[in-house]
Amino acid sequence: MTTPVAIITGGSRGIGAAIAKRLAKDGFDIAITYARNAEAARHVTSAIDALGRKALAIQSDSGNVTDNADLVKKVVDAFGRLDVLVCNAGAYPYGGPDTITIEDISRTLDLNMRGVMVESVCAARAMQKGGRIILIGSAFGERVPLPGISIYSATKAGLVGFAKGLSRDLGPKGITVNVVQPGPIDTEMNPADGPAGDALRAVLAIPKYGEAADVADLVSFLASDSTSYITGTALSVDGGLTA
Ligand code: NDP
Repeated sequence: MTTPVAIITGGSRGIGAAIAKRLAKDGFDIAITYARNAEAARHVTSAIDALGRKALAIQSDSGNVTDNADLVKKVVDAFGRLDVLVCNAGAYPYGGPDTITIEDISRTLDLNMRGVMVESVCAARAMQKGGRIILIGSAFGERVPLPGISIYSATKAGLVGFAKGLSRDLGPKGITVNVVQPGPIDTEMNPADGPAGDALRAVLAIPKYGEAADVADLVSFLASDSTSYITGTALSVDGGLTA
């Protein structure tokens, strides 16, 4: 049987790196993208090589529309197929109306929304029955418990509408589209000992940060053959932030 292939955008660190390694353990060959940190990406591909799976790291800016459009073609040229796309790369701009800049807003829309849309549409064209498109949203797309995150929350909420619509387009082809909504996960983007740590723990049912592996476990489930009837929905792994 041919080995299935997964793309994870922003797979060089944090949640994306955990997803890449988890899907490799599940038997996928893996393409990760990264923006700047080639060394971190090499660590991830080495770990995947050590699991006996093929791994490719591609420098691809998910906020750049040309890179978005080229990504799937590069992976299909290298591996011959595509089964799973995980759109994980994202920016977390912080600031209210007094401090946020127009550039912050544009950059966040390009990366968190347009990039996801272009990559997903390209992936849908390349996938066969059984394909899986998994978008990493956020619990802040559903509940906004703090000031300063309106732009971020709007982009993550928008992913749910996009997934619902795309699930309608792709359901007849046997391709599912879902959003995974993490709560606070201890990464460089949102360290557990960072300035927002205590405020976030205070709004959780389980008052501690999650690990990247918690998100990877849910993505692994959604990428599996067991989920062919789950589509157009958002699944939370958020310590009860939205409870
Ligand atoms: P990190 O900042 O720890 O890692 C970000 C990853 O994305 C890195 O691999 C980075 O690559 C890559 N990346 C950044 N910008 C781009 C870009 N323009 N194009 C391609 N790749 C890029 O983030 P997290 O792991 O914490 O977050 C991953 C996703 O999970 C994001 O979408 C985030 O919004 C979401 N999320 C995170 C939560 C958290 O608490 N951590 C909570 C809810 C959602 P490089 O190494 O080259 O910089």
